[in-house]
Amino acid sequence: MNSIESKLPHVGTTIFTIMSGLANETGAINLSQGFPSFEVSRELIELYHQAMMNNHNQYAPMPGLLPLREELSKKTEKVHGAYYNPESEITITAGGTQALYTAITAFVNKGDEVIIFEPAYDSYKPAIELAGGIVKPYSLTPPDYRINWEEVKQMITSKTKMIMINTPHNPSGTILTAYDLEQLDAITRDTNIIVLSDEVYEHIIFDGEIHQSVARFENLKNRSVIVYSFGKTFHATGWKTGYCLAPEYLMKEFRKVHQFLVFSVNTPLQVALAAYLKNEEHYLNLPSFYQAKRDYFLSLIEGCSFAFTPCKGSYFQLLDYSSFSNEKDTDLAIRLTKEFGIASIPVSVFYSSPVDTKMLRFCFAKDNVTLEKAAEKIHRIK
Ligand code: PMP
Ligand code: GLN
Repeated sequence: MNSIESKLPHVGTTIFTIMSGLANETGAINLSQGFPSFEVSRELIELYHQAMMNNHNQYAPMPGLLPLREELSKKTEKVHGAYYNPESEITITAGGTQALYTAITAFVNKGDEVIIFEPAYDSYKPAIELAGGIVKPYSLTPPDYRINWEEVKQMITSKTKMIMINTPHNPSGTILTAYDLEQLDAITRDTNIIVLSDEVYEHIIFDGEIHQSVARFENLKNRSVIVYSFGKTFHATGWKTGYCLAPEYLMKEFRKVHQFLVFSVNTPLQVALAAYLKNEEHYLNLPSFYQAKRDYFLSLIEGCSFAFTPCKGSYFQLLDYSSFSNEKDTDLAIRLTKEFGIASIPVSVFYSSPVDTKMLRFCFAKDNVTLEKAAEKIHRIK
């Protein structure tokens, strides 16, 4: 029998594959893995198709097509008032996950410490560990999942290389405020710490709140790498395309890794996106579109046995089952899929140490009929 020493001995299959697999097997409504059930814009699909028909089918330049980078530079300036040079400070990636992995690989050395806020998106920790880094988790707790920056400051050592943030936050649905970013700025100001800011849900934010990108804070911007995903913004998670913004001295290093990880990404889609982004309504309408979804879902589940605080951003709603069950969230998520026909994500899997917060995450990026059917099932759970 051959054996191999695993580089990730504690890692199994990602929860998204497990829960979507179980939902498919059992025919349950799948509110687990985060992906929309509604259609991608016909206009965007048409542009993509046209780009292929017009022979944009060979390698794109390594950092991405310049017209797309130029559109993204304009968009960032318009939305956040921050300038990124399209030539040297913007790179098109194969989604947010690749951008995160690339940034971590480019900057984290063996023994470097990386502070992450848990619950954390599940790709962060393995990527840090594969780079030889040491994960320093800061635990966020329900119901508000707030960060005490004084405590974060105490976690910083001479080995701290990076702090990763995520706003709007998956899975809690909370957002960071301008105050949070000012505090982050203050505790990293005279250090060489790099901030890796995961902003893939930037346009999915509610109640009139403004997405506080690190790009809005001049000093932070100068030591931050920001990650975005077209998959989230244009309802096309399967297209796996995103982008990264960083000041030139950081982007230079990012690209050294990017060029050998993927070299470049999907050319015809970049042609299509460059044209589609010219109409700002395509992303500025997203908060109201998703707020209607959130509000509809919450109105449908009103009076159910779960407790909840409406999420402020992302397309996830946490539901607290502590009033009616003592089960582990991983067990309950499986049982609800099999017995009640509704799949969710147990939140404990996003922590590196065992926690028992009795929370399940439900994705409401679904058509209304699916949400109605899901709500019926949720009402039966007691
Ligand atoms: N970060 C977070 C917080 C996410 O939820 C996701 C979603 N899947 C990603 C990054 C990765 O984005 P992508 O699908 O573009 O790789
Ligand atoms: N980001 C999505 C989620 O959190 C799914 C990501 C994935 O399937 N890897 O559900």
